[in-house]
Amino acid sequence: MAARLQRLSIRTKTDLILHLPFRYEDRTKITPIERISSGAEHYVQGRVLGVEVVRGPRPSVYVSIGEGHQTRLNMRLLHYSSRQMDQLQEGVWLRVYGLVRLGRKGMEMIHPEYRVFTSDPGAPQPEYIPVYPATQGLTSARIGSLIRKALNETAFLPNYTHQGLTLGEALRFLHEPDVNRGWDGLHEARKRVAFDELLAFLLLRHRRQIQRGSFSTIALDRERDLHSMCLRSLGFSLTNAQRRVVQEVLSDLSRPKPMLRLLQGDVGSGKTVIAALAIVRAAENSTQTAFMAPTELLAEQHYETLSQWLSPMGIQVGLLTGRMPTSARKARQEAIVRGDDTVIVGTHALFQASTKFKSLGLAIIDEQHRFGVHQRMQLRDKGRLPHQLIMTATPIPRTLAMYLFADMDVSVIDEMPPGRQTIETTVHSAKQRERVISAVGNLLASGQQAYWVCVAIDPRDPDDGNFRGTTDVLEELKAKLPQVKIGHLHGRMKTEEKDRIMKGFRSAEIQLLVATTVVEVGIDVPNATLMVVDDADRLGLAQLHQLRGRVGRGTKKSYCMLMYDPPISTASRNRLNALKKHTDGFELAHLDLSLRGPGEVFGKKQSGTESFRIADLVMDAELLQETRVQGERLLKENPDMASKIIDTWTPSESDYAAV
Ligand code: ADP
Ligand code: MG
Repeated sequence: MAARLQRLSIRTKTDLILHLPFRYEDRTKITPIERISSGAEHYVQGRVLGVEVVRGPRPSVYVSIGEGHQTRLNMRLLHYSSRQMDQLQEGVWLRVYGLVRLGRKGMEMIHPEYRVFTSDPGAPQPEYIPVYPATQGLTSARIGSLIRKALNETAFLPNYTHQGLTLGEALRFLHEPDVNRGWDGLHEARKRVAFDELLAFLLLRHRRQIQRGSFSTIALDRERDLHSMCLRSLGFSLTNAQRRVVQEVLSDLSRPKPMLRLLQGDVGSGKTVIAALAIVRAAENSTQTAFMAPTELLAEQHYETLSQWLSPMGIQVGLLTGRMPTSARKARQEAIVRGDDTVIVGTHALFQASTKFKSLGLAIIDEQHRFGVHQRMQLRDKGRLPHQLIMTATPIPRTLAMYLFADMDVSVIDEMPPGRQTIETTVHSAKQRERVISAVGNLLASGQQAYWVCVAIDPRDPDDGNFRGTTDVLEELKAKLPQVKIGHLHGRMKTEEKDRIMKGFRSAEIQLLVATTVVEVGIDVPNATLMVVDDADRLGLAQLHQLRGRVGRGTKKSYCMLMYDPPISTASRNRLNALKKHTDGFELAHLDLSLRGPGEVFGKKQSGTESFRIADLVMDAELLQETRVQGERLLKENPDMASKIIDTWTPSESDYAAV
């Protein structure tokens, strides 16, 4: 159970009760069967009019329910026990909740949640049922019951009241909603929780700012000729924006005050080069750089790019990831202590306390939105803070940056490398699948490469729902594009296997990569110019925007094809169309918000930032002014409470401290 909870990043009791539903099922009223629509979830009840077992390759039981009208709804079960069959007799009453779709025999719900009654049960008790982010072996319902147990004792939470509610009260309301207060009540409670999280963030920032002021560090002011050597080995010249930003970074590094600089630039704007030039400066001053990436794949990619650029100059690059065998990791760590490795690229495992440096001068964090602002690194070396460069593709408007990053200097790469073209995005239903596949074939024949992304690996896994999985799609594409070299990449593969596939794709040995969303962040293969996404309606706009960012990274025209299986709801359709029209990440985040239903605006991140657990930079921007006022007051009047609020939200901060 602990392992399963960890997959959801739940390690402590606080983590558990801060695990909020991402939406609620509206079980306040029964929808009459003649008014149900496909593509939406409904709460329905009626008498069982017939039970039919259909044999064949996928045997199903169809339980037909109705209210004496012509229209009927089938409850379809693909697996069932004899006890279930005994219960489901003609004439009993059923109350079901589930997603309606149009099947071969009319409207159906596949494996809905249901209850059997011997007579007309009348109107149900109105409820909102929380739906939690779940994981294999741990359902939303089970998580809900664990949380309700944990809620019995919440004295450890800060009992600070804001707008008449403590954090504990707001959380209880979100986990055990009161329908009488409607959706508005839920929205208010969520805002109340977001308020505390933002407050904790501001308080923590304040604390660190004070700490940082008291630290000094090594001034990386020695310049040798490595900088120009590195520029020559790149094979392209820097854009004006890159040149400006490099100067900003190098001038910070030359001072004895620890740099804390946020480097913002849209996907593909060329942030890695800036990192490389900062590393070169650190190396010229005989200090090491720790380079932290959000995923293993990305760490491996950076390792390759940096090795290619830097090893010819005698700068040794090492790779350290959490999934390396212990012996290999130990060997690497020894090389780091000895100072053999000048740059160490790794996932956050790198920052566990067991990794020590000979002389750490610089820490670089790539794709910050993946880490959470709370875990902003507190890496120290012999009591010194290293210089820090934090890179992000998340578009953060200036007004927000003012609050969030008041303790940081911000550099922006606001110019794309020359020759970039906009990505042409199109939306396709499954009916056009053959056409999409042949478009892929044509593109590959011209020597370019493509990604084909699915939301699941194996849809037969009941937890994965009704998706197309990479395993099936791989077979399908192999059969239809027999001359194409296809690779398969997903998160459950071994590191070496992933590594081999990514290398093959990078070297164009693999032409088409069928993958899960593991390719979402940072992967850079400029020759890949087409991204196909299956079941695109199941992904959020921010995630789709990130996926699309994997193409359009070279000078060639790039394409993104979003696929869905009809029927889809109007809201999903609107979201896919939004991607056709818009290319700006922040605009998309705002649209995403306005395209959601009342029960959906919880927990799911709108802006694509995972910096916060609950707060969202788009939804909750208006809270920032108030948190600042309250924060300043707390620091003056009740510093103990301020500490308690910080601790509630940052229990894992110490994991990242390598003193
Ligand atoms: P991101 O900002 O998303 O991290 P990368 O650093 O991965 O972007 O760069 C994207 C691609 O653009 C890489 O292939 C990189 O080598 C290339 N690139 C970066 N800067 C330039 C430039 N000034 N001219 C041409 N290509 C560049
Ligand atoms: Mg990058």
